Amino acid sequence: METKQDQQELVFRSKLPDIYIPNHLPLHSYCFENIPQFCKRPCLINGTTGDTYTYADVELIARKVAAGLDKIGIQQGEVIMLLLQNSPEFAFALLGASYRGAMSTTANPFYKPAEIEKQAKASKAKLIITQSCYVEKVMDFAKENNVKIMCTDAPPEGCLHFSELSSADEKDIPAVKISPNDAVALPYSSGTTGLPKGVMLTHKGLVTSVAQQVDGENPNLYFHKEDVILCVLPLFHIYSLNSVLLCGLRVGAAILIMQKFEINALMELVQKYKVTIAPFVPPIVLEIAKSPVVDKYDLSSIRMVMSGAAPMGKELEDTVRAKLPKAVLGQGYGMTEAGPLLSMCLAFAKEPFDVKSGACGTVVRNAEMKIVDPETNLSLPRNQAGEICIRGDQIMKGYLNDPEATENTIDKEGWLHTGDIGYIDDDDEIFIVDRLKELIKYKGFQVAPAELEAMLISHPCISDAAVVSMKDEAAGEVPVAFVVRANGSKISEDEIKQFISNQVIFYKRIHRVFFMDKIPKAPSGKILRKDLRAKLAAEVACN
Ligand code: AMP
Repeated sequence: METKQDQQELVFRSKLPDIYIPNHLPLHSYCFENIPQFCKRPCLINGTTGDTYTYADVELIARKVAAGLDKIGIQQGEVIMLLLQNSPEFAFALLGASYRGAMSTTANPFYKPAEIEKQAKASKAKLIITQSCYVEKVMDFAKENNVKIMCTDAPPEGCLHFSELSSADEKDIPAVKISPNDAVALPYSSGTTGLPKGVMLTHKGLVTSVAQQVDGENPNLYFHKEDVILCVLPLFHIYSLNSVLLCGLRVGAAILIMQKFEINALMELVQKYKVTIAPFVPPIVLEIAKSPVVDKYDLSSIRMVMSGAAPMGKELEDTVRAKLPKAVLGQGYGMTEAGPLLSMCLAFAKEPFDVKSGACGTVVRNAEMKIVDPETNLSLPRNQAGEICIRGDQIMKGYLNDPEATENTIDKEGWLHTGDIGYIDDDDEIFIVDRLKELIKYKGFQVAPAELEAMLISHPCISDAAVVSMKDEAAGEVPVAFVVRANGSKISEDEIKQFISNQVIFYKRIHRVFFMDKIPKAPSGKILRKDLRAKLAAEVACN
């Protein structure tokens, strides 16, 4: 058998030349580096209220927030939790925390209290910034653990108001020495296996990732300062935080913030603000392809539709292309741990390359990619599918307090193993064909089977369980469970579904339950998910 030493690694790089990346700068300094060119231009537009903040406003508020964080006792290296729907305050808090040398952990405000508590505890968040309607979810936990709660709207008794931060005196901003390797963002992701873990994204990592997308001379620039970028994807997910907010800030574009997705409101905003860049996920693209509402609006301002976070098939891509003929449509491929962007569609470049439907771009600049045989770990040539691996300054520093999971994801040579199966074709385009890892993606949201399995097994009527994904037209994938009942138990499918839905956010709900006598496992105890997926395919075919 050929060993690694015998074989030369086949490494793929971008078709575009590498660029200079100032990744010695802290994230906030990098984002605002070019601000003298556009300080009076609109930076954040609140799509709900119409309120607009210029670049000068946003930079000043971020510094005030840093001073305010210090005033309320948030130290360098500490964590704040952003439990927010999209809003300008999300950006102010993230950037303010960066100035302060603190970290932001981002969480979905629709999470159930126990889901929030797990993340807040694991990350040791000292402050939770949220909206008053979500306070009840965190009140008990915060009291017991001495965590401060702050609201961006009228706070209930015992909570702070965001103005404590935004009206602080920016001159009181404490002097901090930030190292490029300090973490600044801490999103949670289950990665290739197990429970959600804190992903430490550093100043250097995020600066590199943003630069890979928007820095450099023509023809490399994807966005520019005349763009109006739609920010409808949730900022608590790294795709929107990085590729929409941070990239938008770096180039001086106007970022139009929509609190949540609703097709009519979205169309109104696109038409009213003449949106030029529309970053979406496949379920939104699907709705645009199918909804008759879309035809009532003038969407001709859109020059670029980006899709990422989940697979988008060739057919859907082609349908939307026909519907928005003036827009360039393409995919990006991201993974939280990878910083997140691994590849981007080169049809977006100023001097575009032809791209194929179904491809998710070519590897970003200043990075290396290889495809390895998952069995032997040897690198594979073009057109052969294997595990996609990436290396570069943009990838995570590691999982918070979890060196073992970090070692299992980033190998000794610095390659991050994605758990995605794909190949690179003759034109350097990447096609994802399967997923090696456990992760389930519901409309681009992560569902970690291990989390649901732990809940299922905690039920006294269940002796063992495994969760896998099932294809679904609207959501892409949904979780389904295989369950072994405890001796003598008659627990029903509905009871199990209810038991889970009481504890989790809507997208982690279990859609089907299949009963069996034994969960197939390898001698190591690892669940044989492939066998379960085959069983599921047989069950679905029978029904
Ligand atoms: P997350 O960390 O939540 O961004 O999820 C990352 C995972 O989403 C990747 O490892 C892929 O499995 C999947 N993913 C992201 N972008 C794409 C894409 N364009 N096509 C297919 N799968 C994708």
